[in-house]
Amino acid sequence: MERFSIINREDADSKAVTLKIKTELINGGLSYDETSPQLVICVGGDGTLLYAVHQYIDLLDKVYFVALHTGTLGFYTDYTRDQIDELIHDILNDHHAYIYSPKLLEVKIKNQTFYALNEIRIENILRTQTFDIYVDGEFFERFKGNGMCLSTQAGSTAYNRSLKGAVIDAGVSLMQLVEIAGIHDHQHRTMGVPYIMRDDRAVKFKGNFANASLCYDYLYTRLDGVDEINCKMSYRKVRFIRYHEYSYLERLRNLY
Ligand code: NAD
Repeated sequence: MERFSIINREDADSKAVTLKIKTELINGGLSYDETSPQLVICVGGDGTLLYAVHQYIDLLDKVYFVALHTGTLGFYTDYTRDQIDELIHDILNDHHAYIYSPKLLEVKIKNQTFYALNEIRIENILRTQTFDIYVDGEFFERFKGNGMCLSTQAGSTAYNRSLKGAVIDAGVSLMQLVEIAGIHDHQHRTMGVPYIMRDDRAVKFKGNFANASLCYDYLYTRLDGVDEINCKMSYRKVRFIRYHEYSYLERLRNLY
């Protein structure tokens, strides 16, 4: 790696850590390049990493990501505040253990495309949201409730976990569909449990989405005037460079 950039959470501590990493990497012979970096270093938490991914969404095939947490260990962050020197050493020596490359979700609405590393959510907190769900063009079920979360393997430990979706092991590529406060009564009933599906499926939501929002990772867009939302796994991947062993089970244990 010759060119790097750093994205930080913009708090005083993350800025101080950023300055140290930047200075030492430049002294070590690397150049700072925000426009076309080969390595993007994230300093903050999981939210900072998600922000960085969306900042470089059109350069994902050219950049690698590595993240340091300035608080407690996150899920995407491999280094803690007291491992700054180790991170700098690992980058300068570039002996990485492996590359972890989860795919993004891709959502098409009218002529716009959105991407998510964790999940997309259709959410309506103002009124009961009704929509039909199609999988590979075939009608699956009619949903009523607050909304729906479609997550990736990487996002299975995020919002999906709060909805009692299953945690999916690293290395498995799939989509997981979980209800957000679904209504189940005498007139209306849906499957009501998470649906884990193959990653080559296409999921379509059809309905009146007035007052609803599409949330994708930490971002959102309003769905007024939208009647169809098309989702599938993207060919785009986020490439995490893993310089040291930090097992999936250890990440899971650090979650709670
Ligand atoms: P944020 O950046 O403050 O993150 C919220 C929490 O989710 C943090 O504790 C973060 O460490 C954790 N997180 C994010 N991605 C994770 C992952 N893949 N595995 C395990 N934990 C993860 O919040 P934000 O910027 O508003 O949203 C970013 C992400 O946070 C969303 O994609 C969503 O998955 C998650 N989130 C979860 C809940 C919830 O569980 N109820 C609520 C809001 C947001």
